[in-house]
Amino acid sequence: METFSTDIYEIWAMSKNIVISTHLSPDGDAVGAVMALAMAVSEIGAKPIVLIENYAEKFDFIKGKEYIFDGDYDTIEPDVFIAVDCGAKKRLGKAESVFERAKTTFNIDHHISNNNFADNNIVLGGVSSSCEVVFEIIKNFCTLDKYMAEALYTGIVTDTFGFKYNSTSKKTMEIGGGLIDFGIDYSSIQDKVLYEHTKTEVEIFKKALENLKFEGRIVYTYLTSEDLKKCGATSKDLDGIVEYILNIKDMEISAFIYEKDENLCKISLRSKSADVNKIASIFDGGGHMLAAGASIKGDLNSVISYVLTEIKKELKSDE
Ligand code: 5GP
Ligand code: MN
Repeated sequence: METFSTDIYEIWAMSKNIVISTHLSPDGDAVGAVMALAMAVSEIGAKPIVLIENYAEKFDFIKGKEYIFDGDYDTIEPDVFIAVDCGAKKRLGKAESVFERAKTTFNIDHHISNNNFADNNIVLGGVSSSCEVVFEIIKNFCTLDKYMAEALYTGIVTDTFGFKYNSTSKKTMEIGGGLIDFGIDYSSIQDKVLYEHTKTEVEIFKKALENLKFEGRIVYTYLTSEDLKKCGATSKDLDGIVEYILNIKDMEISAFIYEKDENLCKISLRSKSADVNKIASIFDGGGHMLAAGASIKGDLNSVISYVLTEIKKELKSDE
């Protein structure tokens, strides 16, 4: 990692336009990693151009919004493209066309399903978060400050649920502790990104609980586009549903499916020990062993039925 970081520094420091992007529907790890990288790249004299979809308001306190580009992507002339927290190239959405034009590409990630799609791949599957990977890279050539620490801490706590998931290592905690030394308000960051909810989030959560179904050790729920419309909710308001229902005693796998578009559904899978990345891969998705997702073409009922069939197969093969 140490030597590799030197190479990275040399390439980034010699570049002018550095595009930094992440997966569609950015979560806390995506926003934190993108912004920490943007601040680091700016510190070494390059111009960060951040390509990121709109994200939830709760991440607005993270600094670096001024680097977000909202013009015509065709006008960007990328020297370097850094994809972060993005397990597959297609998850870059419309930024993929900018990736294709970049002279040098980087893929910084922690998804086990990542297929090393860039020229330079720093993919540490199993590490807590992309923010942990980003920390390990930028600490070697950057003077970290409070704003970078806030961004990185956000990513680590959202992806580990406050250092709880088993992807949390001793090192993760040491990094978290080191970030606290920058004077960040760690308690209020955790409140904001993990516990506080908007009324819309609670309304849509209520609907998801109304739709809850059990099948043996599988618990699942769904939301129709009508449900989302009635609550005034979007994909940004759905965090936490699939994790919450997995907490139900004796459940092994939870699934949450919602209608994203006409004939397109998004699924989220969580498990206590079964490999849900394997299930998501069947649908051309991916993620981590205990948390994965995919987008599947089809109407809600057929998608629910495909997904349940595959989950049942996986649980059977596990027995
Ligand atoms: P979520 O269920 O919260 O959307 O995602 C859970 C995990 O799976 C995240 O790490 C996310 O990046 C990954 N994931 C979700 N959807 C997809 C997908 O369509 N393709 C891939 N490769 N990964 C996904
Ligand atoms: Mn992540």
